[in-house]
Amino acid sequence: HATKKRMADHLRKYESLFTLTPQRMRMIVEAFKDSLETGLAKAGQVVPMIPTYVFGWPSGEETGNFLAVDLGGTNLRVCLVTLEGEGKFEITQSKYRLTEEQKQEEGQVLFDFCAECLKTFVDSQIESGVIRKDCLLPLGFTFSYPCLQDRIDHGELIRWTKGFGASNTEGHDVVAMFRKSLEKNKVPAEIVALTCDTTGTLIASHYVNPRTRIACIFGTGCNAAYMERAGDIPKISHLGIDGNAEMAINCEWGAFDSFEHENLPRTKYDQIIDETSNKPGEQAFEKLISGRYLGEILRLIICELIDEGVLFLGQNTYKLEIPYSFDTAFLSLMESDPTDELLMIIGIFTHFFAVETTLAERQFFRALAKLVGKRAARLSACGIAAIVSKMGYLDEGCAVGADGSLYNKYPGFAERIHEGLQDIFGEKGKNIVTYHAEDGSGIGAAIIAGSSQSTH
Ligand code: ADP
Repeated sequence: HATKKRMADHLRKYESLFTLTPQRMRMIVEAFKDSLETGLAKAGQVVPMIPTYVFGWPSGEETGNFLAVDLGGTNLRVCLVTLEGEGKFEITQSKYRLTEEQKQEEGQVLFDFCAECLKTFVDSQIESGVIRKDCLLPLGFTFSYPCLQDRIDHGELIRWTKGFGASNTEGHDVVAMFRKSLEKNKVPAEIVALTCDTTGTLIASHYVNPRTRIACIFGTGCNAAYMERAGDIPKISHLGIDGNAEMAINCEWGAFDSFEHENLPRTKYDQIIDETSNKPGEQAFEKLISGRYLGEILRLIICELIDEGVLFLGQNTYKLEIPYSFDTAFLSLMESDPTDELLMIIGIFTHFFAVETTLAERQFFRALAKLVGKRAARLSACGIAAIVSKMGYLDEGCAVGADGSLYNKYPGFAERIHEGLQDIFGEKGKNIVTYHAEDGSGIGAAIIAGSSQSTH
C-alpha cells in the first residue's frame, strides 16, 4: 500500500504537467492561427506554409493508369494506380527497403536505384498484361523533404531530413535528377508532378470523401495540408495567379513554436529531448506529438524516477537508460493491455528492459502513457482547430483525412482529438471529424499526376 500511495502522489505531479485545459488549448489555437497567417504572408517564417502548385480539388472523375514513386524515410515504394472515376481506384505496389548506405550515397546513384526498382516493377506489370508495352506512363513523385517549388514538376531540395545525406542533391532539382535516371534506365515514365506525402493525402482523401478539407500525418513526424485561396497567399502574389484559384498548402506545421518557444507547454522532458536532438530549437510542435518522441518522453520520466530512487531500486536498469529505447508502440500496447494484472506491461519491462515491476508501478506506467498520448492528441486538435478556425469551416463542418502509425494504431488517438476539438469549440467541435485516409501518398500522387497532366 505504501508504494501504491507513493506512485499516486507522483502521478498527480505528472498530471498537472501534462494536462491541457480547454482555456490553454484555445490560447494555443489563436497563436497557431497567427503563425499560419504569417507563413502565408512572407517567405522564411517559422511555419513555412509551402505553396505546392497543386491547384484545386480533384473532380473525382480522373481516370487512367498512373505510376507513383514514394521515396520515404525507410522505404521506397513504387505503385501503379488505376483511377476508375467516382472516387474509385485500384493500386498495385512494391516496396524496397533503403539501406543506410543508400541514404548517404551520391544523389544520382540514389535516384538510379529508384529508377531501377521502378523499371523492374513496370516490366513485371507489362509482362502480366496490366499495362501495354509501348505506352509512356505519367508519374507522380512523392518526395517528402523540404523543396523549393515554383511549379508542379520541379523542386529544388533545400535540405535532406529523416537521416538522408546523399551528396550533390541539396540545391538541385530532384525532378531533373530523377528524370535523368529514368532515361538512363529506359523506364517508360514521365514525371509530371512532384509532391509530398501530406499533400498527397489531402488530395487522395478528398477523392474518396469530398467533405475533406484538411489532411494530417501522425507518424514519425507530423504535418498537415489544406486548400487555400491563392489570393490569401500574399507571398506569391507576384506570380499573378487568379486570386480565386485554390492551391494546396503544405503547412510543415511541425515547426510551430520553434525557436521562441512561447506558446506550447513544454515540460523539462520536452526540453531535454529538444536539447539532445540533432536539431535543437526546431520542430517544436512535432517534438511534443509525433511517434518519434512520445516513447522517449515516457522513458525520460521513468529515468528521472530511477535517479530519485523511486523505481527499480537494486535492479540493473541500463537498458532503460539507452536514449530512444522506449518505442512509442509500447505506449500503445500499455494503454490497450486488457488484463487486471497488466500482463502486457510485465512483458514489455521484462523482455525489453530486463526489470521486474509491481502492479502499482504498472498502473502508474499505464497512467503516464495515457497522459503523454492524450497531450499529443489534444495538441494535434489545436493544430486542426487553427486551420478550421482560419478557414471558417466550423459551422459547415468538414472531414479531416489522417494517416500515420500514431493515428492508425494508438488506441483512442482519434477519439482524443475529437474530444479536444469539442473542448476548443464546444458542441460545434463535433462538426469536425477525422478519419483514416488510406494510402494517400500513392493515390494522391497519381491523382495529382492525372490532373497536372491535363493542365500541361
Ligand atoms: P513514417 O511516418 O515514417 O512514414 P509511420 O506512419 O509508420 O511511418 O510512423 C512510424 C512511427 O510510429 C514511429 O515513430 C513508431 O514509433 C510509431 N509507431 C509504430 N507503431 C506504433 C503503434 N502501434 N502505436 C503508436 N506508435 C507507433
